[in-house]
Amino acid sequence: MFVSGEATILHADLDAFYASVEQRDDPRLRGRPVIVGGGVVLAASYEAKACGVATAMGGRQALALCPHAIVVPPRMSAYSAASKAVFEVFRDTTPLVEGLSIDEAFLDVGGLRRIAGPPVDIAARLRRQVRERVGLPITVGVARTKFLAKVASGVAKPDGLLVVPPDGELAFLHPLAVERLWGVGRVTAAKLHEYGISSVGEVAALPESVLVSTLGRALGRHLHALAQNRDPRAVVVGRRRGSIGSQRAIGRGPHTPEGLDAVVVGLVDRVTGRMRKAHRVGRTVMLRLRFADFSRISRSHTLAHPTSGTAEVLVAVRALLANAQPLIRERGCTLVASPWATSTTTPPCSSSCRSTRATPTPSTRRSTRCTAGSAPRRSPARCCSVAARGSRCPCCPTDGSYRAVAAVSSRNRASTSSSTSV
Ligand SMILES: [Mg+2]
Repeated sequence: MFVSGEATILHADLDAFYASVEQRDDPRLRGRPVIVGGGVVLAASYEAKACGVATAMGGRQALALCPHAIVVPPRMSAYSAASKAVFEVFRDTTPLVEGLSIDEAFLDVGGLRRIAGPPVDIAARLRRQVRERVGLPITVGVARTKFLAKVASGVAKPDGLLVVPPDGELAFLHPLAVERLWGVGRVTAAKLHEYGISSVGEVAALPESVLVSTLGRALGRHLHALAQNRDPRAVVVGRRRGSIGSQRAIGRGPHTPEGLDAVVVGLVDRVTGRMRKAHRVGRTVMLRLRFADFSRISRSHTLAHPTSGTAEVLVAVRALLANAQPLIRERGCTLVASPWATSTTTPPCSSSCRSTRATPTPSTRRSTRCTAGSAPRRSPARCCSVAARGSRCPCCPTDGSYRAVAAVSSRNRASTSSSTSV
């Protein structure tokens, strides 16, 4: 993989996005601590962050830390419109834009020097245009790799611009705290601190084998590479987000199993509805819970087939919830989230197929899968998945030969995993 010799990758990240939109639209909020979201903090302005308020914190705790904060309800349509406007500025800057979320993206400006100037000038112009056209502050990090550009923008926040020159990369990276490395959350950071490792440079000094034996093969290798600033990933245009989710804060309770089940039904219905509307399917369902002591757990289950069917997903989420009941009884649940991960666009079953309909495949009955289309077997055409056995496929041009596939629920117990953070 080719990594440019010049720092040409920009990581552009809006500052305290939701709170900044609120401050932009209501002059009375400017310069004052603003918290978006009541039950759980969705975003906090930098004035509120200075008091210790953080995203995903409980509303009560946030107000205890910052009693003068102004709490405003979220306005998702305003944030969505602002995001679209900012991404327009990104695409006016370079065609190579990879969105990471509603408020951040990587931009590759390599090759634009002759028409747009050096990357640092492009980054400065980008920040100015976002301020003028959308009215929001944005921070930009510029580096040779995506990882370092993201680290640079994190260091430069708020409302900053930081360029990491190619000959100063390790000097910039190694003094930083290990928490700056992608993949280092609270649990991994605590484990590294136990071994007396607190800076990226200390991670870089360890042999890969030591990191692998301490943190596991995947994470050990990943951190070893990042600490040496090895990140060959290119900016990919058109990448879509990998998961769709929904969450609901439910207060301190007490909550009955029936009450939690009703919350889960609502979340699953909302998430699967959004997936069908977006013509997406997925295989991995996740359940996240936050407890009264602010610890969290994630439980996931991977189905045998991708789907967007409400009934099938609900069965999986209910099973995850049932397994978590002892912990819920012990610690009290305050937040339920149900992201539906690894979603992909429903593929058509042949080049002439126009249908990308995502059709649920109930796990409890037999379904049929078209074998006549040109789609690879590993990503079967879901539009054919429930065609009646022996009938003509609704979207394949040929007389499809249908192979009955038993979508039995035992296959859907393909794998289950869990993680806990405290
Ligand atoms: Mg941001």
